[in-house]
Amino acid sequence: MKKKKEFVKPLRLSFSQLMTYVRCPEHYLFRYIFGIRTPSGKAMKQGSALHDAIAEGYMRKMEEGRAPSIPQAQEMYRKLLRKHLEDYYEELERGSFLITKEFLAKERKVSSSDLLDAGTRGIAVYKKEIERRTDPLFAEEPFEIPLRNNIELVGRIDLVDTSHILHETKTTKKKPVLQQTSLDPQLAFYQFAYEYLTSQKPKSMVKDFLILGKKDAFVVRYPVRKSEIGKNSLFRIIDAISFAVRNNVWYCVHTADSWVCSQGWCGYFKLHRELRKVGLERMKQKYMNKK
Ligand code: SF4
Repeated sequence: MKKKKEFVKPLRLSFSQLMTYVRCPEHYLFRYIFGIRTPSGKAMKQGSALHDAIAEGYMRKMEEGRAPSIPQAQEMYRKLLRKHLEDYYEELERGSFLITKEFLAKERKVSSSDLLDAGTRGIAVYKKEIERRTDPLFAEEPFEIPLRNNIELVGRIDLVDTSHILHETKTTKKKPVLQQTSLDPQLAFYQFAYEYLTSQKPKSMVKDFLILGKKDAFVVRYPVRKSEIGKNSLFRIIDAISFAVRNNVWYCVHTADSWVCSQGWCGYFKLHRELRKVGLERMKQKYMNKK
């Protein structure tokens, strides 16, 4: 009798999952294998509120033919920030067993009203500088792409305009120094997704940074004609990470003086210590059953 083929769930990978593994394999283990979320900082919540408000503006532009006015968009941002900050306090409560006093000390210095003011200024600048000149073809477009080795790439493309230019938008406090935007894996990832969805290459790509300074906001644009990371290189990265994930490769290679491992930054510091103490098997027994 023919043996029935066992169904194995595909390994679903988003760009942020891939980058989590690159930044710290243990983070991947705690977040995606054990399913434990660390509370995000308030600044991250501001980034999410801005992202959502910008996306909402493009959606309305597509559906209604015109984007919300600046005051309307600012009001939308305020509402979204309030909602994200409510989530922040809930996450703090839920993840209290992970929180270090260094994280709390850092968070205490972040004022919610500063985030509100800076983001409100940022929205106005973004709309004047970018949105006004951008006609969206699609925004927040979801994708699920089956690949070899039972892997599925998942995510959403931020924005593609009617000239077939792919946009990625980030918010930050300082102007980033980007030497080689054409080697940016994020753009390569979304370029691949765009090609899969539309069967054509984007005309070009841009990475826009909305910089929120203490008193002002401005936008910096980095254009890229074409990613230098081709499909094969991208697949090699994906294959290597998926192999590591499937084979329990969770080595930490950060040195003791790395800022990445500081207690103020690493939300998983307590789990990291526990893993060192009790080992992977006991951690799996303890946390995987909780999922
Ligand atoms: S302490 Fe360092 S290695 Fe450990 S989980 Fe945090 S970032 Fe990763």
